[in-house]
Amino acid sequence: MAKACYFLDNIKDTVSGYNFGFLHIKAVDDAAHDRDADLRVALLERVDRMLDYLAKEIEILANIQERKFLMVLTGDHTTPVALGDHSCDPVPFVIHGVGFDLGADNVKEFDELSCSLGSLGRFRGSEVMPLLKTISSSF
Ligand SMILES: [Zn+2]
Repeated sequence: MAKACYFLDNIKDTVSGYNFGFLHIKAVDDAAHDRDADLRVALLERVDRMLDYLAKEIEILANIQERKFLMVLTGDHTTPVALGDHSCDPVPFVIHGVGFDLGADNVKEFDELSCSLGSLGRFRGSEVMPLLKTISSSF
């Protein structure tokens, strides 16, 4: 949770002028490298709780500071526990607008297959930043 608090402290700071924050969680990948499925599940459950906390805090921040945020959740690569190494399989990807309505599709689960059937479909990692710049320039 320390990373989440540090992240929030930095995006709360409007004086610094930051308009982009990146929170990377490495432990889940490390558990997969160790082929420790139980640890990986436990870590993902902790990540779920942290994301819930972050989403609520960013919503509060958007209301207090009258700001808009894009929250993006994805993985930088896959690391199947059975393989114990990185693979080049697709990763799930979701974008959430905070302080504005970005619209929604019918996807209710955050997993590779469900997300690939959403309104964003499948795309290359090199398309992520241009996509986010396009969306953020529209609000
Ligand atoms: Zn790795």
